[in-house]
This record gives sequence, structure tokens and C-alpha cells, in this order.
Amino acid sequence: MSKQILHIGIDDTDSPKGMCTTFLAYKIINRLKKENVDFLDFPNLVRFNPNIPWKTRGNGAVGIKISTSNPKKIKNLVKKFVKQYSDVKNGANPGLVFCQDENIPDEFLKLSSDAMWKLIHRNEAKKILSKYNLDFFYLGNGQGLIGATSVIGYNFEDQTYELLSYRKPSEFGKKRFLDKGKVKRMQEKTYPKTFNSFDPKKNKVLLMPHGPDPVFYGVRGEDSMTLISASKMIQPKEKLDGYLIFKSNQGTGDHLKNEIDVNNFLPYTSGKLQGIVDSRPIVTKGGHVFFSIIVKNIKIHCAVYKPTRITDIAKELIVGDKIKVGGGIRKATKTLPRILNLEFIQILNLEKKSKLVNPLCQKCQKHMKSKGKNQGFQCVHCKNTSAYKTRHFITRSIKKQLYIPDVSAHRHLTKPVQRMKQKSKSEKFNPNSSWISNF
Ligand SMILES: [Zn+2]
Repeated sequence: MSKQILHIGIDDTDSPKGMCTTFLAYKIINRLKKENVDFLDFPNLVRFNPNIPWKTRGNGAVGIKISTSNPKKIKNLVKKFVKQYSDVKNGANPGLVFCQDENIPDEFLKLSSDAMWKLIHRNEAKKILSKYNLDFFYLGNGQGLIGATSVIGYNFEDQTYELLSYRKPSEFGKKRFLDKGKVKRMQEKTYPKTFNSFDPKKNKVLLMPHGPDPVFYGVRGEDSMTLISASKMIQPKEKLDGYLIFKSNQGTGDHLKNEIDVNNFLPYTSGKLQGIVDSRPIVTKGGHVFFSIIVKNIKIHCAVYKPTRITDIAKELIVGDKIKVGGGIRKATKTLPRILNLEFIQILNLEKKSKLVNPLCQKCQKHMKSKGKNQGFQCVHCKNTSAYKTRHFITRSIKKQLYIPDVSAHRHLTKPVQRMKQKSKSEKFNPNSSWISNF
């Protein structure tokens, strides 16, 4: 029997209390290995708009592409896994989508690129699925259908990879232990081919979650070979179950490619815009910074939060500075308007900063003293006089460059500094390589 392509999209199986869609993918793939299927790509881990209110932890969906001679059997198998492992009682709304065609419908691509930056109603996904008469399945309210459809339609323009290692079920919920020094050395050895494993400024391990989920650690980087050798350098004492390598849009900044529509400025959308600073930044007691910019004659309120550390940059902005910023729009509250929460600040042009000072006596090189209101100025040494103050220019402490948050404040999609200039090549998938492993 000839084999048929089968795209599988899964989303929203996890909840804050445990489980994780990537772990479900790990279980499914291990099971599918026992069937007569060919794996055609790394499993895809795609993160969508992080600025929506009811996302699960990382708003990430998983896509698996295989070929099989018995799609019906595979579909039933996968469905059983999704039913069994979804944390519905803790708020998961899983969605599962099958697309049995090599050519993915254009609507999938459109939905996927929209899901990157805006809020999408689940009915939009359902409409597409019915139009093409595709097999799908959901539990709860079906919110997961958006991600499950979008992950199949996702078009990688840039990509990274993540090796996720999983614990044995007997260890779930227990504290994780890793040698900090080993993680630090691993990062130093593999930089810039891996990213966000360790924050040297805070001397803090970043690659290990702290929640009850099955992930022990995740190493992110540019190619699978680097991830496998990086993972070997970490060597935790705990005996793990295995690992799986995903191809991902993490670290690509994909959610900020969209140009924000300032006329609508809709809550929960993400993107970027360019404007001129029109108010002096205000620093709150908690260290957050608020200011506004003018974009196409419209005032846009911006907020920079303390943990990002770009507050140090934001508070140095002055009226007239030309900047490009990106982030997510927060809905208005009783006391505050809609605000753009910044995830980066790029300074395009710095206004000259100056202040008026008493004139300098050219002979004595000393500042003159005021003789009284509107009385002009006089040098106390030589009695030289001048009628006007002079303008003194102050060196700006910020530069024409891009500023992004500290690594500890990075989100899944934040593009790390070392990835700014590069677009890594997509790696050819070799099904016989060590992309999945069971220890
Ligand atoms: Zn003088």
C-alpha cells in the first residue's frame, strides 16, 4: 500500500498545573516509531502571539509530519493519546487537527501568520477545517484548534532548535537539580550556537523550568548536533526518560514583525511601530517607565517594566527622539488607557539635549553671575558683562542602537542579540539521526 502524507497539529493540552504539549508529542512519536511510519521533519514547536490573555504557559503548539500507509489507524492512535494526556480538568482546551495532503491549504498559512500577532476566535479555525472537510478533534471549548491548525500552516522563515529532555513519571513534581557550573561552561563552549541557557549577570540557570511539568531542561540553539553535544555537557544526576529535538520559531522575534495599526491599536495584538517621543518618561516607585510617542499624529502610550532592564534606556529618552519599538498592547483599565508594553527599543535618532546656563567669561573661563532678573550677567573677576544665557549641550547616555531585555526577562520568541544579524539555514532532517532518544 502506498504511503500518504499526514500532518498532525496539537495544541493546548497543558495547564499551569502540569503536563505539556511537547511531552505529549514525545509520547506520541515514541509510539509511532512502533508503527510503519516515516518521519519527514523534526516535530515543530511553534509559539504564537504571547500577548493574549488566556494562553497556556507558552502558547506553543506542536506539529508532526509523517507518511503512513494507514492514516486511519494513526489518527485514532494520536487521538487516544490526546484524550489520555490532556489536562482538561485543570483548564486545558486541547485541539487536534489532521491534514492528509502534501499541499496545505492557503487558509492555514493565513491563520498561522495572523495567530502570530493577534487574537483569533476558535470559530475561524473551525470554519477552515469544515471547509476542507478535515478530521479534527477537541475537548473543552476547542481553543486549541487555533494553534493545532496554525502550526500545520506555519511557514518557517527563520528557525531554531530545542532539545527538550523529559523526566521519568516517578520524578514529576519533584525539585530539579543541575550543576550550575556545568551549564555555565556549556554555554561558554557552545556560544553563539546555543542561547539563553544561563544568565551570567545574575549567575542563574535559565534552561530548567521549575514547575510540575515533565520537562527537565531544554537547550536552545541553531542546529541539532550542537544541541546533542551541549546536552551531554550538562549531565544531571537524575536519571531521565529521554529527549526530543524540536524545530521552533523560538528566538526569532516572529511576533513583532507585524506593523501595529495605530488607528485601531487593538488590545492583545503584538507588533512594532516607529514614532517620536513626545513626553518626558515617568519612572514609577516600582521602577517601571511610562512615556508616550507620536505615530502618524496619534499618541501611543508605552510602558517598560523593571524586569526587562531596558527601563534604564527608556528613562533617558527625551522629547524629539526618534525610536522604533515593539511589544504587545495591553487592554485599557479604569485608570489607564491602552498601553504598548515594550519588548525592545531601537533608537533611530537622538535629539540634542541641552540646557541654558549662565554665560562663560571668555577672559577668565568662569561662569558669570546673574545681576538679577532681566539684568544680564557679569563676571565677578573682571566685571565683563553679557545679556544672555548660553546653551550648553549635554552628551546623551544612550546610543543609536537596538536595546532588548536582559536574557532573564526573555520570552520564548525574543530574538537574542547574537541572532540579530543572522538567519540560520534550515537543517535537513535525517530520520536516522539522534533527534529522539530514550535513555
Ligand atoms: Zn572675567
